[in-house]
Amino acid sequence: MTNFADLGLNQSVLRAVAEGGYETMTPIQKQAIPAVLENKDLIAIAQTGTGKTAAFSLPLIQKLLTGEGKRTPKGARALILAPTRELAIQISENVRAYGKYLHLKSTLIYGGAGAKPQIKAMAAGVDILIATPGRLLDLMNQRHVNLGNVEYLVLDEADRMLDMGFIRDIQKIIAQLPKARQTLLFSATMPTTVEKLANSILQNPLRIEVAPAATTAEKVAQHVLMVPKGRKRDLLAHVLKDESLSRVLIFTRTKHGANRVARQLDQLGISSDAIHGNKSQNARQKALNAFRSGETRALVATDVAARGIDVDGVTHVINFEIPNEPESYVHRIGRTARAGATGSSLSFCDHEERAYLKDIEKSIRQPVPVLEDHPFHAEGIASAPAGEESKPANGGRGRRGGGNRRPSGSGSGNRQNNGGGRSGAPKSQNAGSGAAKPQRSGSGKPRSRNRRPQRTAA
Ligand code: AMP
Repeated sequence: MTNFADLGLNQSVLRAVAEGGYETMTPIQKQAIPAVLENKDLIAIAQTGTGKTAAFSLPLIQKLLTGEGKRTPKGARALILAPTRELAIQISENVRAYGKYLHLKSTLIYGGAGAKPQIKAMAAGVDILIATPGRLLDLMNQRHVNLGNVEYLVLDEADRMLDMGFIRDIQKIIAQLPKARQTLLFSATMPTTVEKLANSILQNPLRIEVAPAATTAEKVAQHVLMVPKGRKRDLLAHVLKDESLSRVLIFTRTKHGANRVARQLDQLGISSDAIHGNKSQNARQKALNAFRSGETRALVATDVAARGIDVDGVTHVINFEIPNEPESYVHRIGRTARAGATGSSLSFCDHEERAYLKDIEKSIRQPVPVLEDHPFHAEGIASAPAGEESKPANGGRGRRGGGNRRPSGSGSGNRQNNGGGRSGAPKSQNAGSGAAKPQRSGSGKPRSRNRRPQRTAA
């Protein structure tokens, strides 16, 4: 079964889906939609870009239409939990689009915006509530929201919700839902924390997996550019000279980093915006719209802010800083390979970040080729303190590249021509092996690579 029409969905839903330009189902939709229609609980391992939102929204809408449940004051028949407000908004836009010929009521609850309109929207009750956990729990505690009649629960990007420290909020929310409900859990990855949560809230779930980390990664032409930390700004200016980088999503690890890069782009005369957790919802939405419409060429984002961003036609993802979690890398580069499209990613890697790169390569089960054809490559591979660079982190096993990863010193002949033209076949070598161990910070403590809960965005 590949056609939406074969699913037995309501004609108005099919019409909206067709108008959205969807012709055939994506793999996750093929597996998930019939299962949800058959009342099954579901664990779906799927990333953004796979069509997962429609995979749960379409059958949910169908069931709400045909079911006997009714809206109740302050209540919702279906609850969709998402980690960030951007993702929540994105889901809501999709739900509205699929239901545009129907009379279902949906609303959004998320932090960082006034609570009053959200409370008002909930007063008479809704069919579908899309929410981030923190604000939802607040409104439940204040008795503005009562979820005692929820029939369907969807947890979207469950791994990210747990990464962001929402586990307790989620547990408290779920404790107030009826036990007799259908539950769907979507997650890009399945760490044990998510597995545990799934076991505690799902009943005999069907497990489907459509996009292991490598799948998204395979669709993206990935390159890493070795560069000293202090030259990343220059490298960014250099790569952006190439106008084929026309819609560029640039990632930084921190909010300050995002602001700094946006300021630099400003100085270079490149239209851009930054989005991160410190920006108001309005400012973020405005920035997204400008990027979507092509008014701005670049959008600088932190990982948290970028979750759920759905922009078609992103030509390049630039990792101005390499993420310390491989999952984030996959999510980042997945922004340029949405719904079957291909794309390119350029990761700027300084000496300290090589260990992160190595973790990423392990996770995506493929080496990321090194693009040598830029002015900072020789400095980039030479920047390791002598001794460390030549120490193989993997004990000499595995994918070691050629000899030119060793510190080359200036004038070693390693410098590549910088005649632009990044589009030609890049000269590549494996990047990750031989990586130095994570650097120690100034305090003498090893730099922590643990995920710290971040609550800023939702
Ligand atoms: P998602 O994984 O839900 O974030 O969806 C990624 C993108 O794919 C969104 O822009 C959707 O509108 C689009 N999409 C979802 N399902 C389909 C489909 N069956 N055919 C074409 N595009 C789709």
